[in-house]
Amino acid sequence: MIETSIGYGEQLRSRADAIATACVHAGEEPDASGALDPPIVLSSAFAFESAEHAARAFRGEEEAWIYGRWGNPTVRSLEAKLAALEGAEAACATASGMAAIAGVVLAHCSSGDHIVAPRAMYAESARLFRERLPKLGITTTFVDGTREAYAAAITSSTRILYVETPSNPTLGVVDIEAIAELAHALSPSPIVVVDGTFATPFAQTPLAHGADLVVHSMTKGISGHGDVIGGAVAGTEAAIARIRETVIKGFGGVISPLSAWLVARGLRTFALRQERACATAASLAKHLAAHPRVAVVHHPSLPSHPGHVLAQKQMHAYGALFSFELAAPSPAEALDRGRRVLETLRVATHAVSLGDVRTLVVHPASTTHSTMPEETRRLAGIGEGLLRVSCGLEAAADLVADLDRALASV
Ligand code: PLP
Repeated sequence: MIETSIGYGEQLRSRADAIATACVHAGEEPDASGALDPPIVLSSAFAFESAEHAARAFRGEEEAWIYGRWGNPTVRSLEAKLAALEGAEAACATASGMAAIAGVVLAHCSSGDHIVAPRAMYAESARLFRERLPKLGITTTFVDGTREAYAAAITSSTRILYVETPSNPTLGVVDIEAIAELAHALSPSPIVVVDGTFATPFAQTPLAHGADLVVHSMTKGISGHGDVIGGAVAGTEAAIARIRETVIKGFGGVISPLSAWLVARGLRTFALRQERACATAASLAKHLAAHPRVAVVHHPSLPSHPGHVLAQKQMHAYGALFSFELAAPSPAEALDRGRRVLETLRVATHAVSLGDVRTLVVHPASTTHSTMPEETRRLAGIGEGLLRVSCGLEAAADLVADLDRALASV
């Protein structure tokens, strides 16, 4: 919840204080050598103490490290840290965000099952639902993010209510609690899965609002340095045991120990990084909202944003990403202006991905969301002149000057 009686800077500081110790210490203990930093265990197999030990381990009567795809100490240490940050009983790390999302769906759905998902979401997730799952007999109804739209789309075959909030790239906010109440009033109850990548656990903890599972691309703000690909799922012990068995052990969506170590290393500074990046996003969004070359800015911190009040209720912070639509007389001119702005930026980097130490700017219509059908893009509010900004750790004043100079060029 965003405490509106104090300034946003203070609110961010108090969220950072709430999780800072877990960021540094959760999941970590000195190993037998006393090494403070968890070692990167690269071994693909682990020695048994005896034949009886091996047999007991295989029967599941004794916890043991057996084989790297089934479990690894470096990965397990990261998973404990993630669970602590999500306020979850358990978490499991996956090879990528898409491995987490596809794995969760395939672990819960089979031919004939149905999913309700939002129109506005990461394009590869949309493609999974629209193009890939129908080949397996799993269908999806796409809706706008309201409780009513989800309710109207549910059928007796619905197994998952999928939510992405805030959504990529227009920062739409979906009411997690309302969707969870809707799902859990049904019998059998569909599960509610929330992609929290844009918010990270710094800005939002969906399980506290009734979601059954939260999925993340850890490639983004969680690892935070733009040097690793990874994903995660968090939920109850029982739910994560099922995901581990199917997604990791069965489908092989395992994260490498080196990647897990890099994510855990990034997480130790997560509170500090997010505090700064979220503050920068709010100040840049406010600046651009008053800029004559900008038609609209999408960031939940702005009172004009349709999800502003809901974000205050369900988020700890407004997040480090925003997007803005350039003012232009026609879509073709908007596209051209978007390109020129991107090519003029010097501090912010023109690149896909998000949650990096560097500020990254991308043009969704021609890149990340180009695989979405034009009509879906239009309904999702992704205009030709929309630019998405993922705030990094540079000085906000340098980013303002950079954006102002780029906007002056169009
Ligand atoms: N979810 C969201 C919201 C994303 O933006 C992305 C990637 O950009 C993903 C999931 C997929 O993550 P990954 O690239 O780690 O597979």
